Amino acid sequence: MRAMVYRGPYKIRVEEKDVPRIEHPNDAVVRVTRAAICGSDLHLYHGMMPDTRVGTTFGHEFVGVVEEVGPSVRTLSPGDRVMVPFNIYCGSCWFCARGLYSNCHNVNPNATAVGAIYGYSHTCGGYDGGQAEFVRVPFADVGPTVVPEWMDDEDAVLLTDALATGYFGAQLGDIVEGDVVVVFGAGPVGLYAAKSAWLMGAGRVIVIDHLEYRLEKARTFAHAETYNFVEHDDIVVHLKRITDHLGADVAIDAAGAEADGSFMQHVTAAKLKLQGGSPIALNWAIDAVRKGGTVSVIGAYGPMFSAVKFGDALNKGLTLRMNQCPVKRQWPRLFEHIRNGYLKPSDIVTHRIPLEHINEAYHIFSAKLDGCIKPLIVPNAA
Ligand SMILES: [Zn+2]
Ligand SMILES: [Zn+2]
Repeated sequence: MRAMVYRGPYKIRVEEKDVPRIEHPNDAVVRVTRAAICGSDLHLYHGMMPDTRVGTTFGHEFVGVVEEVGPSVRTLSPGDRVMVPFNIYCGSCWFCARGLYSNCHNVNPNATAVGAIYGYSHTCGGYDGGQAEFVRVPFADVGPTVVPEWMDDEDAVLLTDALATGYFGAQLGDIVEGDVVVVFGAGPVGLYAAKSAWLMGAGRVIVIDHLEYRLEKARTFAHAETYNFVEHDDIVVHLKRITDHLGADVAIDAAGAEADGSFMQHVTAAKLKLQGGSPIALNWAIDAVRKGGTVSVIGAYGPMFSAVKFGDALNKGLTLRMNQCPVKRQWPRLFEHIRNGYLKPSDIVTHRIPLEHINEAYHIFSAKLDGCIKPLIVPNAA
């Protein structure tokens, strides 16, 4: 089969690989019809994530058709159209029993923090991902779900991470009616978090970024008030000024490890790898939220420490909430919102690129060219 293969930082190829096999009775093999590149894939592409091995295939956002199932699979059959959460999880451990699917204890021998993620380095379990024609799906009875008949593949693929994560970010903010919510980062997750904040009763939604085309999307897709941090000496002071000098009730960090906005932070994190991520957006969130407010973190950070303003968070009495999104927990409510027309996930898709040209897709997305917000990958057989 054809598959995206990592050859080192900034080196992505499409190569011939063996079609994955059933390795365990509860596996399925899925023929991919749509995959997406995630902002967090760029951390892998840039060589930020420890133990990203040459020869592996990325891709934790994909949908497809079940090709084959192992003998113990009960809920799926060949021919089913399925959406697969980015989390791989067993469904029965202490953590899964509590809905903490992203922290499953049985799927990743390399870490006690994060569970497992498709195509996201050996730090996250070493599973190959779905930027390929076929992918092996473990615990096929647990995560994968038949796509509702009325939902198209492109909306479904956005539910496997980006939309679920954005919605989760707003949820972690514990938004109450009338709250002022500020979202740092106008990538797909930030756009969805802003949109979700309205659905949860926010009275005002503000989005911060430095890319004008993304702020434009935040205005049209998420109906948010937007500010470009490059145009303000100090974005936190500006945010204080426009919120009665109190600060926002809720701040959401949807930027994560490679946030721009501080040269020192970017160099120590992205270039020198002295930090697990540049916490500039997180520090802005801590500064921009009012005393007693809530900071929600859904941007991705690596396993190492980051220079976070913890003392300020403590002295302001903030609530900090964070996790990798337990995707499937968000689906019932999101299915409802989509079906009722409150959300059209694929409105943020800007590029549809054949798998054979996936290196172009990574380049365009990474360099923020051509107005790229969300690139989808179309395998040959789709
Ligand atoms: Zn993702
Ligand atoms: Zn588990």
